[in-house]
Parts: sequence; C-alpha cells; structure tokens
Amino acid sequence: MSLSAAAGRRPGLVMDLDGTVWIGGRMIAGALDCLRWLKETGFPLVYLTNNPVRPEGYASRLSMHGLPTEPDEVMTASTILKDHLLEVMPRARLFVLADADVRAQFEPDFAFSEDPSAIDVVIATSPTALDHAGLTIAFRALQRGARFMATNADPSWVSPEGVEVPHAAAVIGALEASSRRAVELVAGKPSRLAAELVQRRLDRPPTEILVVGDNLHTDVRFASENGMTSVLVLTGVGRRDEAAAAPHPPDHILESIAELPALLRARSEA
Ligand SMILES: [Mg+2]
Repeated sequence: MSLSAAAGRRPGLVMDLDGTVWIGGRMIAGALDCLRWLKETGFPLVYLTNNPVRPEGYASRLSMHGLPTEPDEVMTASTILKDHLLEVMPRARLFVLADADVRAQFEPDFAFSEDPSAIDVVIATSPTALDHAGLTIAFRALQRGARFMATNADPSWVSPEGVEVPHAAAVIGALEASSRRAVELVAGKPSRLAAELVQRRLDRPPTEILVVGDNLHTDVRFASENGMTSVLVLTGVGRRDEAAAAPHPPDHILESIAELPALLRARSEA
C-alpha cells in the first residue's frame, strides 16, 4: 500500500516497543537516534504496546534514555481497554483475571467485585497471579452473562529476563474452554478499537499511518486489517522467511528501526 501524500503532510507513526525499540533490558542499536530524528523532523508518533503495563513505566524508560516522553504518548492494551470502558460502561463493576498491576490501573476509575452475581465485566489479562479461586469467580460470572473482554491476546511474552512466558491468551483460553463463552473484545493489536484510537491520536486517516513492529501476528496484521502501512523489523520475534508466507505480509521489512529514516526519505516523506 502506498501512503497518500494528502496536503504534503507527514504520515503518522505507530511505534511498537518490545522487540522494536528495546529487547529485554537492552536498547536496539540506532533506535534512540531514529526516534529522536522522527520527533525532530515532525512526524506525529504514538507508542503502542500490547503489554498491559503502566504507560508511566515505558515513558520514564524512554525519558531516562534521553528521549523525553509523556505517559500519554504511550498507549498500552490496558489504557485502550480502560478508555473504551470509560466511554461505554463507566459504571461497570469489574473483575480482573489475573494481574494485580492491571487491576490497579483500573482502580481509580472503576468499582470491583468478587461476587460473580455482581460482576458486569470479566477482564482477562496476563496470568501473573492466576489461581483457582480467581478462575472460579470469573467462570461463574461468565456463566451468568457478564461481559467477557481482554487486554490483549498474545500467546506468550519474552520477560525482562529474556525468558518466554505464557501471556493473556492462556487466561482467555482457560475461560473460553471452561465457560464455553468466546471473548467479546480484545483491546490490543490487531483490534479495530486500537486502530480507531491511534487514528484519533495521530489525527491521520489509516492511509497516512505507518505501523512499525516486530510481530507479524499483532503489528503487521493490525496494519493490514485496518488499512495502514506495515513495517516489520527483524529485531524481535518476526522472521523474514515467515513474513513471505504470512497471511498478512508486511509492506516493508527492515533489519532494524535504525533503517526507518532511510525508508521514509526514500518514500519522500521526510
Ligand atoms: Mg513487539
């Protein structure tokens, strides 16, 4: 897909973080120079991660590396779901399975219940504190018809220690299999909800947005299904041989984000 050059303005950029800007505890070579250049050149940019952690943590990590970043420049699967619920169900009573930090992010704005008959929305998220008691509460709430949502649906995740661990798909799967309900809404990439929010934030239509990320199943699929241009970087989980055979092949493949300025210049967008 080619970007339209409407009014000669620069396209918006949706930037993944894990595997794209850093991997585990290490910054990817050239990433900071690239991000600095994007900001100085005037590209509208938003960070978008499926990791449902607090945006403050990621913003301060970028700031610590000399790239001053405000928390509202970082959208996570949690902030997307929270913004959505505030808009459509602001008085919903929630139950979060099974990550205390994700629950804490919703706490200032929502009420919670552990009584299955009083729960309006079950939120599936990373299984850091998954236990039988919580699973049973969520299962019973779903049986009685509570709404079933998830921050993200990533099967696994590479922890800061560099080890692959199960992620929210494990919780969704446990609830779907036991309750025989299907998850109704997943907030993170590749959702349409996330696409609508980034378009609003960047003030660009999908044809003027590039999505940069390392994951074919989230980042590239997100771009492809929502009419945006995808740039796969090979510094994370996605591989070049998989990209060719993927149901949503990327529009561009780069060895790393360090090559992004050259790509944008070649496309006459900088
Ligand atoms: Mg990633």
